[in-house]
Amino acid sequence: MEQDIARILIPRERIQQRVHELARQIDETYRDSSEGLIIVPILAGSIIFLADLIRCLPFKMRIGLMTLSRYRGAATVGGETQLVHELSTDIEGRHVLVVDDILDSGGTLMAVRSHLQERRPASLRVCVLLRKTAKAPKDLVPDFVGFDIEDVFVVGYGLDYDGHYRNWPDIGVLRPELYA
Ligand code: 5GP
Ligand code: MG
Repeated sequence: MEQDIARILIPRERIQQRVHELARQIDETYRDSSEGLIIVPILAGSIIFLADLIRCLPFKMRIGLMTLSRYRGAATVGGETQLVHELSTDIEGRHVLVVDDILDSGGTLMAVRSHLQERRPASLRVCVLLRKTAKAPKDLVPDFVGFDIEDVFVVGYGLDYDGHYRNWPDIGVLRPELYA
């Protein structure tokens, strides 16, 4: 696995440090309203981040699961996001925090946001570990951002290429010849 990584963009120690900082920010934000908070991870890229983040949160929370699939037809530029499994928990009147691995063009999060908004949560916030500033839309500003990164394809810490590298502990740039 190591030989497939061209360079490490964010080492594991730096990730852990930032995850603790994000958890502190989230704790401050929900200090008076954490009761009933439901965290909705966008699978599967956010699983490692989610596991680390929620273990830094000092209050009671629940996880709501939903599965989305992104179809990228050859002719479609952005692709289309489809709901595969409906949310497992009722979120009406609850505070909801969406957790995702990376904000790129924003298509995924826009679709998730409008889908969840229809279920009338008390509030809806978004936390992403990474944001590619080059393409992120101006009208989708996450409430919590781990790192702003350049427009390179990254793997590790939950992020995959063809299903692989999710278990690589750092965030790294894949050798370009592997996906060319
Ligand atoms: P968006 O809908 O914002 O364009 O794309 C978001 C999704 O595309 C992410 O949740 C992630 O699954 C995937 N993605 C975008 N950029 C990268 C990247 O650099 N590496 C990996 N592994 N996935 C990415
Ligand atoms: Mg994803």
